[in-house]
Amino acid sequence: MPEQKEREKFNYETFEEVLEEVREKDYNRIGLQGPDGIKPQIIEYADRLRKHDIEPVIVGASTFGACGIADEKAKRMDADALIHIGHTRFLHPEGADMMDADVYYLPYREDRDIMSVLEEHYDEIEGDKLGLVGVTQYMDRAEPAREFLEDKGYDVVEGKTGLRTSEPGQVLGCDAGAAHNIAEKVDAFVFLGSGHFHPSQVSETGKKVYVVDPYEKHIWVEPPNSLDDEMKAEIARVMKYKDKQKWGIITSSKKGQNYMRAVEIAKEKLEKHGKDVYLFVEDRIFESDYRGYGIDIYVNCACPRMTKDFQDLALVSPRALDTLDEVE
Ligand code: SF4
Repeated sequence: MPEQKEREKFNYETFEEVLEEVREKDYNRIGLQGPDGIKPQIIEYADRLRKHDIEPVIVGASTFGACGIADEKAKRMDADALIHIGHTRFLHPEGADMMDADVYYLPYREDRDIMSVLEEHYDEIEGDKLGLVGVTQYMDRAEPAREFLEDKGYDVVEGKTGLRTSEPGQVLGCDAGAAHNIAEKVDAFVFLGSGHFHPSQVSETGKKVYVVDPYEKHIWVEPPNSLDDEMKAEIARVMKYKDKQKWGIITSSKKGQNYMRAVEIAKEKLEKHGKDVYLFVEDRIFESDYRGYGIDIYVNCACPRMTKDFQDLALVSPRALDTLDEVE
């Protein structure tokens, strides 16, 4: 596993830091890429680059994560480097090289006042030993949150990174490794962020997750193992289509969502059960693209979030294929 410093390489905290570097390097053209919510900011950065005689090229499609760095697209436009806004550096879970030496990662930090929520409601947190995790947007407040909790008498276990993440304690929709890596040492987790998606990944550790939510302005609890129902739904999908001959496996051509080892494992499992397996690849994956092939069920070897989000397509994770062994 790469050292912490190696993981954080290419992460920056401010646009000024990035600007200083790209000016020093005398770059002429720079790519800009980011998620939907910060498009106006991308235009602002483009204007600032232009003021320094650097031509910006904007990657039109928004991105959900740094798994989809578009440095190759930027290069095709003759850009010297890419500034990826919104996310920290993403490491490939199967160890593949992300080849991101010319990418500047500028994570988006949400300025909502999460500390006052923690300060007002911390006494609702039960347990002595805590794990502190959260999403990128609030990880710049991990240190003050840790200090505050320790001050109040809690023992906060030192944070670790996950397989894909570059900040200790940081959780992605596809990686709650930061929590799993310390789960045995803690009574509960404190999560900096909002929504159920990320806390539910942390709850898979079997521990309670206290969500310090700056939108709801209070601390609420995600119960242990709250993802069990989703796994049951996947198993039900496998059971429904278990006798179908044709199965699809989907992966993405995005660098960080191209899980070839998972594809091979899933293919092997399906072929062992006598299935005809068809491999599919696409950059951004839309459900509608998978209608018309005469295939009823697909294995998701791209962004794991799709398995939950897709409503019409029967999509399952590679893990759910174990059900096939059990029903024989
Ligand atoms: S959850 Fe999906 S979109 Fe988000 S970082 Fe992971 S692979 Fe990328």
